Amino acid sequence: MLYIQKKNKLIVNINQNKNLNIEKRNKIISDLINYLNSKKTKTSLNNKQYQLNYKKIFKIMIDPGHGGEDPGAIGKNNTYEKNIVLQVSQRLQSIIQKKSYIKVYMTRNKDIFVSLKHRILEARRKKIDLFISIHTNSVKNKLAQGASVFILSKKSAINVAEKHLLNTKYSIKKFIGIPSSGDYYLDNTMFDLLQNSTMYESFKFGNKILNSLGKITKLHKNTLNYAGFAVLKYPEIPSILIELAFISNLQEEMKLNNPYYQQKIAEAIFHGIQLYLFNK
Ligand SMILES: [Zn+2]
Repeated sequence: MLYIQKKNKLIVNINQNKNLNIEKRNKIISDLINYLNSKKTKTSLNNKQYQLNYKKIFKIMIDPGHGGEDPGAIGKNNTYEKNIVLQVSQRLQSIIQKKSYIKVYMTRNKDIFVSLKHRILEARRKKIDLFISIHTNSVKNKLAQGASVFILSKKSAINVAEKHLLNTKYSIKKFIGIPSSGDYYLDNTMFDLLQNSTMYESFKFGNKILNSLGKITKLHKNTLNYAGFAVLKYPEIPSILIELAFISNLQEEMKLNNPYYQQKIAEAIFHGIQLYLFNK
């Protein structure tokens, strides 16, 4: 590594790394570009064309929040968040199961405790294409209402990147199988590219879900929310967290218990998934 300080310019010459030959570097970069391109959604495809063009099944993981000893938020009429989010997730699961071009996984399919770490590892192990965490919101203000969609905040994304950079075994290999170059700055840039591309997909996906939910229910806010939830921190898997409604709001608590309303929410989420997949 060579640093040259020239007046106000700082030149960093990454070619000084003797272990990194140009072919190896180009191969790693082109592998990453191919990977990122393969993840992009295609325009104007119908379901059949999608299957033919992708030649692979799109994998979605639904993550009903909480479970088992962790009830999540509890409504005034004793509605448990963990039960509502499981019911809506199972409705969404059964809609997706009818589609041959998507394979759906669940982080839990019954009332059990699953750690956040396990949920994240499972998604990574199954090489999931989209991760959807489902929750209900709860605040002190009993009047707060509406659905929200969260994606990873820029601040948390920087923390994730820094954490990986501090790790001496830092490599995007762990996430997408492409080996690290061994050059700190190139690896850093590759991590940035991967993370930014994933965040852009989460942003597009989140907006489709938000618009779709907005057609059947009130939205808490008309735009996406940004947060640092653990399940949003994948550098390689576009992920969103949906708060279906406020379980702390009596009216919304009642709606969340209504099977007809649950089905409508599940259908709206599925509609959003399709809008995203077919880039509409
Ligand atoms: Zn929750």
